[in-house]
Amino acid sequence: MSWDFETEPEFGAKLDWADAFVRDEVEPLDLVWPDLVFTPPDEKLRKVIDPRKQAVRDQGLWATHLGPELGGQGYGQLRLCLLNEILGRSSWAPVIFGCQAPDTGNAEIIAHYGTAEQKERYLRPLLDGEVFSCYSMTEPEGGSDPTQFKTRAVRDGDGWVLNGWKFFSSNAKTASFFIVMAVTNPDVSPYQGMSMFLVPADTPGIEIVRSVGLGYEPRGEGAHALIHYRDVRLPASALLGGENEAFVIAQTRLGGGRIHHAMRTIGQAKKALDMMCERALSRHTQGGKLSDKQFVQGYIADSYAQLTQFRLFVLYTAWEIDKYNDYRKVRKDIAAIKVLMPGVLHDIAQRALQVHGALGASNEMPFTRMLSGATVLGLADGPTEVHKMTVARQVLRDYRPSDDMWPTEHLPKKLAAARAKFAAHLEHEIGNL
Ligand SMILES: Cc1cc2nc3c(=O)[nH]c(=O)nc-3n(C[C@H](O)[C@H](O)[C@H](O)COP(=O)(O)OP(=O)(O)OC[C@H]3O[C@@H](n4cnc5c(N)ncnc54)[C@H](O)[C@@H]3O)c2cc1C
Repeated sequence: MSWDFETEPEFGAKLDWADAFVRDEVEPLDLVWPDLVFTPPDEKLRKVIDPRKQAVRDQGLWATHLGPELGGQGYGQLRLCLLNEILGRSSWAPVIFGCQAPDTGNAEIIAHYGTAEQKERYLRPLLDGEVFSCYSMTEPEGGSDPTQFKTRAVRDGDGWVLNGWKFFSSNAKTASFFIVMAVTNPDVSPYQGMSMFLVPADTPGIEIVRSVGLGYEPRGEGAHALIHYRDVRLPASALLGGENEAFVIAQTRLGGGRIHHAMRTIGQAKKALDMMCERALSRHTQGGKLSDKQFVQGYIADSYAQLTQFRLFVLYTAWEIDKYNDYRKVRKDIAAIKVLMPGVLHDIAQRALQVHGALGASNEMPFTRMLSGATVLGLADGPTEVHKMTVARQVLRDYRPSDDMWPTEHLPKKLAAARAKFAAHLEHEIGNL
């Protein structure tokens, strides 16, 4: 059958297991250890985390984004989407299931471009969930425009010397290694003149100046580092992929990362919709339940429709990735999803907050955090504006300019052509009148 909106029963059973497991065994971790998600666990925490990771492995759901050659099940992106919708409800769930960002994207590029030695040293522990990694590209003076990047890696004998500043390098303070993008040929466009390096976190010369938090987090306690790389000496073996190939590699990484965020966003938005509906059915005001009020019904209907549209688009794009096995061929739809994602989460979380009244605005409910998360989704992995430009460029590729004075669909022109086509009939009709 070429179109099928059903999940195979075997995988459906695994999703049911994951749904209950995340609710009962993982979501409670978010409440007790909210700040330790990306921290290598100490012995005490291991006693809690390791059995849960093992339960996931026993179900064959560990690192499902990976193919069998890397220890995954090769389920593909479509099934991963169905699973990620569940994992998106919890901060801890991606770590417990071995598919957390940014490590998934980082693992993907090491798997694609790494040497055997690099895979052994960096990829294996990453896939085993033993270490965390950091992707260090954005700079204080430029994020979305690579022509502003200034961090340089200069050849020094067999190796390299790295100098520069990076900003918003997530999880730097707990990562075992960084993937750093640096200019290696300043005489050409950055798209042709930057390279990627695998840099162990304890390499001399790396200074984490401070860890920046998001809006709602206490100052100085965030996960996004300002890093000064000062005369960091790297061996030749630190180069990931070919020299000056950073942008080709980055596309491999960011494509997967973006759609995985979208999959998890479905889970969060669904959680907000669930809360909105429960509250609407539970709360009485002015002679009836909130669910009887048409404004509230409008919130629910709009949210359901918006979420379902978005979900189908994400599932379709995941299906396309499985089909082509090449993110570049699905660039347009990945970018379009990235554009929609912040709005979907924002709108549904905002309505859910509103339906909860003052409680919704309080720190006893998760809505303000969701709203802040939605804002961030419009920046991380590139701002919405830039992705809109990508969508438009890709859409326009399928069109050609009109070579006539008038547009192709100009009605007088089309009418003249249609009349010419049916001229014989028109004359005949007229003749019979
Ligand atoms: C939570 C979070 C996690 C992140 N994690 C990482 C990480 O791990 N590693 C990493 O390297 N980076 C990370 N980033 C940084 C992220 O990639 C950048 O924030 C993003 O690329 C935008 O760069 P910028 O912040 O410098 O904004 P700028 O590039 O300065 O852009 C600012 C604004 O200008 C506008 N703008 C920019 N370009 C255009 C354009 N062409 N047309 C119209 N308007 C435009 C947009 O409104 C944009 O938001 C993270 C960011 C966030 C928020």
